[in-house]
Amino acid sequence: MVAGEPLSVKVPLLDLKAQFQQIRAAVLSAVEGVCEDQSFILGQRVETFEADIADYLGCRYAVGVASGSDALLLSLMTVGIEPGDEVITVPFTFFSTAGVVSRLSGVPVFVDIQTDTFTMDPDQLEKAVTPRTKAIIPVHLFGQCADMEAIMDVADRHGVKVIEDACQSIGASRHGRRAGTMGYTGCFSFFPSKNLGGVGDGGLITTNDPAVRELLLALRVHGSRSDYHHDHIGLNSRLDAMEAAVLRVKLPYLKDWNTKRARNAAKYERLFADAGLFDRVTLPTTDAGNVHVFNQYTIRAQRRDELMAYLKDHEIGHKVYYPVPLHLQECYQPLGYQKGHFPVSELLAREVLSLPIYPELTDSQIQRVVQSISDFYKS
Ligand SMILES: *Cc1c(COP(=O)(O)O)cnc(C)c1O
Repeated sequence: MVAGEPLSVKVPLLDLKAQFQQIRAAVLSAVEGVCEDQSFILGQRVETFEADIADYLGCRYAVGVASGSDALLLSLMTVGIEPGDEVITVPFTFFSTAGVVSRLSGVPVFVDIQTDTFTMDPDQLEKAVTPRTKAIIPVHLFGQCADMEAIMDVADRHGVKVIEDACQSIGASRHGRRAGTMGYTGCFSFFPSKNLGGVGDGGLITTNDPAVRELLLALRVHGSRSDYHHDHIGLNSRLDAMEAAVLRVKLPYLKDWNTKRARNAAKYERLFADAGLFDRVTLPTTDAGNVHVFNQYTIRAQRRDELMAYLKDHEIGHKVYYPVPLHLQECYQPLGYQKGHFPVSELLAREVLSLPIYPELTDSQIQRVVQSISDFYKS
């Protein structure tokens, strides 16, 4: 504990105001520029940001859209999902990964995840492929990539497209390749709590295929490439110029912010080891070949719900991502899954707990989190 710092300081789960203070002048100037121009929809700012981020990620094209969920939806629309077509994904993810499949009258088919990385189990994937499988959506959960070599191998053998849900993993890589650039398309979210967060909703699709890019550019403006002529049935899903302007200010900081998240994770690991808590908590594992960007620092904890109540009393931010696997959601009961179908997802839903990991977190805050958890188990 740093001398002079009160023991009772709160540790929030996320502190976006601390980030804003570092870049305040540049963000406000970007916002002002958009207001001065009164040019809010698409245009130069969006194109410049798309070029910058394609360059950062190392892919040919990036297409800005209204949200990460729409990035997934529009990607699936380019595949051409017909009613009854199957899309394989995992039940341990944010709802929209599967929700978009249902929105297109497709059928989400779930396969379980691996216990250590929390990402898609490629062996189960192989068994779930049928002649109706049109796409696979692996989720690069919490900031690290799924086993893309194994997943691409299954997909290629069956002629199925892979849409990467990289919403939580911007800047992560696997064997030197960035999350979201290994499959057919990559989907990103700029929801404010993501590693690159906007000033509202926003999203992005990456692709190396010029034809897919052309189709996406049309689909995000009602399927039209020239005013009032519609070749496709699209929707209104654009990245706002305001978002693009602010995101362009933030993008150069992303590398540093991601490094700080990983450094905080390393500090947690040391402190948990020092506290001798490995019989009570399991820390996140980074798969060989992965660079993890820790959108969440998610541990598995014994007596998780009691620990949560204790942390709440001691003003330590925490959250459960995700408490109910998708196959057990009320809206998915018609799919016919039951408790016990995906034991790893169900186990994790009972044990996981995400702790503060944001870049501006201080050493003494990290110490306070670990100390509180230690106090809980030793009391
Ligand atoms: C955030 C997120 C999404 C959806 O992104 P939005 O921009 O909120 O629509 C999809 N999948 C995962 C895994 C996410 O974390």
